Amino acid sequence: MHKFSRINGTIFYAYQVCPREAWFYYHRLNPHQENDLLLLGRLVHEGSYQRARKEIFVDQLLKIDLFRDEMVGEVKKSSRHKEAAKLQLAYYLYYLKHEKGLEMKGVLLFPKERKTEQVKLTAELEQKIKDVLKEMIEIFLKSTPPKPKKISYCRTCSFQEVCWG
Ligand code: SF4
Repeated sequence: MHKFSRINGTIFYAYQVCPREAWFYYHRLNPHQENDLLLLGRLVHEGSYQRARKEIFVDQLLKIDLFRDEMVGEVKKSSRHKEAAKLQLAYYLYYLKHEKGLEMKGVLLFPKERKTEQVKLTAELEQKIKDVLKEMIEIFLKSTPPKPKKISYCRTCSFQEVCWG
């Protein structure tokens, strides 16, 4: 797993939305260094729970919002990028299983929408994580980022100026 060691939850999540943005994060490029916390906040702290005391860091890579018994919870502000959130959580489950020997169940929480969704690391989902990690590494090892692709998220992305002037 060491070659994946720099793929944290933020990068994994960002990749599902825009591989170019994920490439920037992987290479530690940031258009607004002074807003580093703000940026991370947007991607990682998307939640409205009082979570500080419940968050758990795993190997300084995963920031798990809720960790209780055999359940790992990820809190998101909205379900807009639900598939990305689901894969991010599956990545956590995958990492915990293979790196820590912990077989956990996952739950996505969208408190503002009063919704939850269970995520189980099925063989199919596990294969998907393996494929995505392989694909990510190939992209991140390139010296230039993927070309920008206009998506609705660009409007609020911090790299907007970098991509579209
Ligand atoms: S502005 Fe758009 S293309 Fe550029 S990194 Fe952000 S989401 Fe990706």
